[in-house]
Amino acid sequence: MARIGTYSIMVHGGAGALNNVNDSRTAVRYLESLRRILEHGRDVLTLGGSALQAVEACATLLEDDPLFNAGCGSVLNEAGKVEMDAAIMNGHDLSAGAVAGVSDITNPIQLARRVMSHSKHVMLVGEGALRFADSCEIPRAPKEYFFTPQRVAQLEEARAKGSMILDHDGTDEQSDDQKYGTIGAVAFDLQGNLAAATSTGGIVNKRLGRVGDSPILGAGVYADNETCAVSATGYGEDFMRTVFAKTISDYIAMQGMNAGTATHAGIEYLQRRVHGRGGVIVVDRQGNCASGFTTKRMIHGWIEHGGSTVVRF
Ligand code: ASP
Repeated sequence: MARIGTYSIMVHGGAGALNNVNDSRTAVRYLESLRRILEHGRDVLTLGGSALQAVEACATLLEDDPLFNAGCGSVLNEAGKVEMDAAIMNGHDLSAGAVAGVSDITNPIQLARRVMSHSKHVMLVGEGALRFADSCEIPRAPKEYFFTPQRVAQLEEARAKGSMILDHDGTDEQSDDQKYGTIGAVAFDLQGNLAAATSTGGIVNKRLGRVGDSPILGAGVYADNETCAVSATGYGEDFMRTVFAKTISDYIAMQGMNAGTATHAGIEYLQRRVHGRGGVIVVDRQGNCASGFTTKRMIHGWIEHGGSTVVRF
């Protein structure tokens, strides 16, 4: 039984090595940003807003903060371009919207929400997504909005290594205070509804056209009022191969687990089957919050059952 009359909200700002948080100024910036955004989500929920409105609002603010690898802080692909993925899902009726491989959009999560509410489709990609954005009057941003010298340096580092890197996994030579992380939010509202949102620039030096887990329902994002809401961060290929978010939901549906035990089981499965690298936030249909990660750290925070705000790495 859902605990109607209480609310919970969680956000994350990416998983990885996060060596940069050893610098206290950077750590404070991350924590302050997460706290401010979580408390904005809390205000949406306490004023009677839906879980869907809360996750969209939090994801929008996270996309607008250049600390994180989404929206204006997105990483660059092998062609030196920003290609973003995002998805949002409503646990009430399993409605969902997603976009993949989009450039020039200030807030991909808002475009995903429009796909959900103003189209007959669940996912739009590339040029078609941009045309749809224009038809909905979703604003485009100039290229400079996304482009920073730090992102170029990060791409150069990945190219020199001949590999892709998770945003948070740079080396110490990098300017440590300029690393960012994929974002996500999950919420449980006063009516007992669940929702999830995930948005990302993806992985540094990824192939042109590569789509990760973030916009794939059941991989990097999922919400179902009968089970839980999930947002993942890390190597997207690992989450797609394990249908990670839906696997956690299935543990709740089929084995009667709660957020904590299902997250633990999901992380164990991810590690055992594909040596997966990343983390996840989960809120279940009773509003219980849980998180887990296989990386050294994950930037995340929560307010559980209307309690106090917790933020941590
Ligand atoms: N999951 C994202 C992707 O693979 C990256 C991340 O979470 O940092 O595109």
